[in-house]
Amino acid sequence: MSLLDGLQADLRERQAQGLYRQRRVVDGPQGVQLKVGGRELLSFCSNDYLGLAADPRVAEAMCSATRRYGVGSGAAHLISGHSQAHHALEEELADFLGCERALLFSTGYMANLGVLGTLLERGDTVLQDRLDHASLIDGAQLAAARLRRYAHADMGALERMLGGAGGRLMIASDGVFSMDGDVAPLDELHALAQRHDAALMIDDAHGFGVLGEQGRGSIDAAGLAPGDVPIHMATLGKALGTAGAFVAGSDELIETLIQKARSYIYTTAMPAALAETTRASLRIMIGEQWRREHLQALVARFRAGAESLGLSLMDSRTPIQPVLPGEAQVALEWSDALLSRGLLVTAIRPPTVPQGSARLRITFSAAHEEAHVDRLLEALQAVAA
Ligand SMILES: *Cc1c(COP(=O)(O)O)cnc(C)c1O
Repeated sequence: MSLLDGLQADLRERQAQGLYRQRRVVDGPQGVQLKVGGRELLSFCSNDYLGLAADPRVAEAMCSATRRYGVGSGAAHLISGHSQAHHALEEELADFLGCERALLFSTGYMANLGVLGTLLERGDTVLQDRLDHASLIDGAQLAAARLRRYAHADMGALERMLGGAGGRLMIASDGVFSMDGDVAPLDELHALAQRHDAALMIDDAHGFGVLGEQGRGSIDAAGLAPGDVPIHMATLGKALGTAGAFVAGSDELIETLIQKARSYIYTTAMPAALAETTRASLRIMIGEQWRREHLQALVARFRAGAESLGLSLMDSRTPIQPVLPGEAQVALEWSDALLSRGLLVTAIRPPTVPQGSARLRITFSAAHEEAHVDRLLEALQAVAA
């Protein structure tokens, strides 16, 4: 059988298992009210945690930055694509986080491939939480490094693996786990990294903007100093509402990535206007503490309501609040039933999450109102009872 002949059977198999994925076409701006196929839906599934993706000030910043910088960046950063806007954003991010330098990447996926692909060599070992984001796993594979995955948040397991690991060592973990919403045991990760001379990398895609003083993220929230996590990565397409990602750390780290990271070097720079827009969004993110406070209040309201309904929640204090029916088919049925009531909540199924832990991944945004949470709870009561 040739390569392409097997596709049809594979697709049918996925459909039969309830694992078939489909895209929804959204009309109009991202937000808690989404227009899909002519219907207005109340959405609980985006990562736009602070409600900035369609904020009028951010949108206006994009328009005026586009008039100033145009649209395309024209080339990679090392050719002629690195603009004043990119440079200023990098400096502002480094300043804000108290790191020496920061480096922009076009996406978080590319940032992780770049960091792991650059720092690790064959013979090195990278230890990762079993629930780490796919891009961290792919980065380890790209580097042909040994990848050891420890049971979720199990520091005893990590310690045993560190003891037996060969080559130079890296520990890489999500700061906030994207599908569970819990925060990594950061102080223990830091202590183990110190004790075993391992480089610690934290991917704070879901913590940046949401947790910590002024939104500095999970590392700050855990009381660690910037230097305690020498490789700090976060994304700009979630709480900041724009797109892209950055790595923050020492001058040597950033210079090394500029010299060697293939996903930095061999790609066109993100539009300068987008970097300029992110500067505006960063200022709003830092200044508007009420967004983080409102988000926490929504989360508390949801958890209290869901607990009184007897729903199975996870140990999460972040805006990621999964509800777990367990079976992929049931998760899908709940999601469909919510949809028929005008609520958009995606079912997350294997292989994104482990077998038997299919879930509704509910996320909250500062743009939600308390009445939205109540509507969700009422619908869940009807659907999941
Ligand atoms: C979203 C995400 C990424 C990828 O970032 P993109 O900018 O969307 O490519 C990386 N790591 C984690 C933990 C994420 O949630």
